[in-house]
Amino acid sequence: LGNKLPPHGRIADTQKCLRVSGKHNDLEEVGVDTYHHTLFEMLGNWSFGDYFKKEAIAWAWELLTEVYKIDKSRLYVTVFEGSPSENVAFDQEAYDTWKQFIAEDRIIYGNKKDNFWEMGEMGPCGPCSEIHVDIRTEEERQKVDGKTLVNASHPHVIEIWNNVFMEFNRKADGSLEKLPKQHVDTGMGFERLCMVLQGVQSNYDTDVFTPIIKAIENLSGKKYNGQNEGDAQQLKHNIAIRVIADHIRTISFSIADGQLPSNTGAGYVIRRILRRAIRYGYQSLDMKAPFMHGLVKTLANHMGDAFPELKIQQTLIEKVIKEEELSFYRTLETGIRRMDQLMEETKAKKATLIDGHSAFELFDTFGFPIDLTALIARENNLSIDEAVFNDELQKQKERSRSAGTSETSDWVELDNTFKSTEFVGYEKLSSEVKIVKYRKVNAKGKSLYHIILNKTPFYAESGGQIGDTGSISNANEMIRIIDTRKEAGALLHVSETLPEKIEAGFFAEVDKDKRSLTENNHSATHLMHAALRKILGTHVEQKGSLVNDEYLRFDFSHFSKLTDNELKQIEEIVNQKIRENISTVIETMSIEDAKKTGAMALFGEKYGDLVRVVSIDKNYSIELCGGTHVRATGEIGLFKITSESAVAAGIRRIEAVTALGAENFLNEQVSILNEIKSSLKNAKDLVKSIEQLQNDNTALQKQIAVLYKEKALSLKGDLIKSIEKINGLEVIAQKVDLESVDALKDLVFALKDENENRLICFTSILNGKPMIFVGLNDHLVKSKNLNAGQLVKSLSKFIKGGGGGAPHFANAGGTDASQLDNVFSELKTLIA
Ligand code: ATP
Ligand code: MG
Repeated sequence: LGNKLPPHGRIADTQKCLRVSGKHNDLEEVGVDTYHHTLFEMLGNWSFGDYFKKEAIAWAWELLTEVYKIDKSRLYVTVFEGSPSENVAFDQEAYDTWKQFIAEDRIIYGNKKDNFWEMGEMGPCGPCSEIHVDIRTEEERQKVDGKTLVNASHPHVIEIWNNVFMEFNRKADGSLEKLPKQHVDTGMGFERLCMVLQGVQSNYDTDVFTPIIKAIENLSGKKYNGQNEGDAQQLKHNIAIRVIADHIRTISFSIADGQLPSNTGAGYVIRRILRRAIRYGYQSLDMKAPFMHGLVKTLANHMGDAFPELKIQQTLIEKVIKEEELSFYRTLETGIRRMDQLMEETKAKKATLIDGHSAFELFDTFGFPIDLTALIARENNLSIDEAVFNDELQKQKERSRSAGTSETSDWVELDNTFKSTEFVGYEKLSSEVKIVKYRKVNAKGKSLYHIILNKTPFYAESGGQIGDTGSISNANEMIRIIDTRKEAGALLHVSETLPEKIEAGFFAEVDKDKRSLTENNHSATHLMHAALRKILGTHVEQKGSLVNDEYLRFDFSHFSKLTDNELKQIEEIVNQKIRENISTVIETMSIEDAKKTGAMALFGEKYGDLVRVVSIDKNYSIELCGGTHVRATGEIGLFKITSESAVAAGIRRIEAVTALGAENFLNEQVSILNEIKSSLKNAKDLVKSIEQLQNDNTALQKQIAVLYKEKALSLKGDLIKSIEKINGLEVIAQKVDLESVDALKDLVFALKDENENRLICFTSILNGKPMIFVGLNDHLVKSKNLNAGQLVKSLSKFIKGGGGGAPHFANAGGTDASQLDNVFSELKTLIA
């Protein structure tokens, strides 16, 4: 789009690529077929306004046929056939270039679906040219012409490389405009390339996967035979093993790159992939306990040389996965119990169809996958009303879609010479500016504007630091900027209104106090990060960070809860550094030089060639950071930790406040303390007074217990006098006034154990609520087949309550005491 100048006109790279949500979603194919992954390595070469179609095609051909020596007679290529309705012509240039290398009957015309690349509804796009390879046996190739199998989902005639020629920008109304420059973006699947070069028929038979598959075989005791047809049981195992081998890579790499499983957004995508793998293991391989975390070691050993993050973070990855597995197994169990209940209800109604609403509830509330529900139902000769289920699912999808829809209009450009926004916000909080572009966005029933300025003092949200707010104004008008964000290299100022005279000059001004409170928290985060590594060790790695004007939140890898002493030491170090009033030194240097300084960088973070290095005492804290900071640490004033907790297995979170926030926090604590003091009549030693109160309380409770015991003993005589003989039983059924469950229970036990024919039934009112106690001598339980739990269940209807227990003792609590007297007559009928 020309928002930002790339550092090089030509780039070649490998990308970790996930296709598990949104427009490109291969999730349901993965494992079922042999050549789609949730995570794969995409090898690519890029031109940013440098070379174009002719060069890209010639080099692709050279690499495949001369360097990799793939047999030319096994290759086919596609070119875009054109789309008159969109006013895009047949890709003559690509066709003419290919003609120089390959016979014309091997150049296939592709339609818009296969041969026109678009990322989303709007934005850069263009025709593409794919290269397909036929890896079938000679015999099969004789029978069926490979050309007819291109783009026909044949597992052995597959696309390995796509060359995208980015020429257009799609606008909000769907029309295409020519981009200022033309670009190339190619993608070749590494695993598919390996399959071709290693002469195997499936990505999973390449050495990228075989060690992982071996480990799964060892864990599960099931064999993988590579086939994707034949014996149903074996096929079931093969698919599950492929799913697991694939998913363990995706999850491990994502965690290493800082994306933990969670309940929302990207974290939820990772959680669902992990659960899909567990489910395949559970259903197809009979894995009934956590197993996925046991594969991380093999993966780290196998790929750790190329991707050291896997080795460095192996323990963390294992812990996170194990925790997730444990919690999913619990969900599975809850789901299975609910399922049992549903099946019972269905059978009681003499039906065979489990209703779709309940199946949806299982899916939605318990995370219980539908195919598992269906499987269990089938095993019990039941089935699921899938029409209703699908209907519910559709409704849910629509709900979430309409909640998330937003409409973005095209940019309105006011200055077509504009290249990129000059950011002056490191040095200044205000500046003379002009609006160069704006657009309207409708989301969640609200309309907002995105404004781009030629120059800006506003910091755009990144690196955990929130975006600046403020205003842009001139003598005639003022509008508020409610947020500042980055998008594809552009700095967006968000506002609710537009100025009336949009082309006028403006004065942009950042909210000073908010920015400076935010800076306090940001610099304090650096100080704390260094203190954590000092006190806990260098395994501490940043896993997430939020810095705003109110507080700071910092997530980091560490395996146990921080002790009070550790927290105290961390606070002490940070406050010491604040009092030293150290000047912040900010330098821009090459990434190599930055690494030499020992600066802390983040895994998974992309850094340019030039980086910004923030040091607060060169021997204490050096970090790569694009955020804004205090000039000297004294500005932070005071640092106070407000909480320490766990976010996930192996990840801790600290929240803290500084400056005004710390002052408010401490004042609040002091005022609570003062209140306690005055309610303790200004005792001299508060701690001692509270301890005294607690000790008194314990002593009083002990005395009360003794009194109850004595009272119970005196009641015992009267109760024995009340024995009635019914049906060979010695029944004591009485209302007993004792304000303690324990004392009542003791009394029941004391009386029932005295005689082998005793049945005790007490009613009582405790704290205003009716209760029933039933005790049976063990002899009665055995010889008369009586059960205290069942008796209590039947009796509890009189107190509008419920309860239960063991065969020899049970109790129930209720809400209504008006029919308590009916309990005894009912009991007598029950045992008569
Ligand atoms: P296919 O039609 O096979 O799904 P695609 O058209 O989606 O492929 P592109 O978007 O053109 O593929 O991606 C470029 C290359 O990346 C493909 O040629 C292929 O080699 C590889 N690739 C794409 N999707 C996957 C995947 N899910 N797993 C492994 N490799 C993939
Ligand atoms: Mg695809």
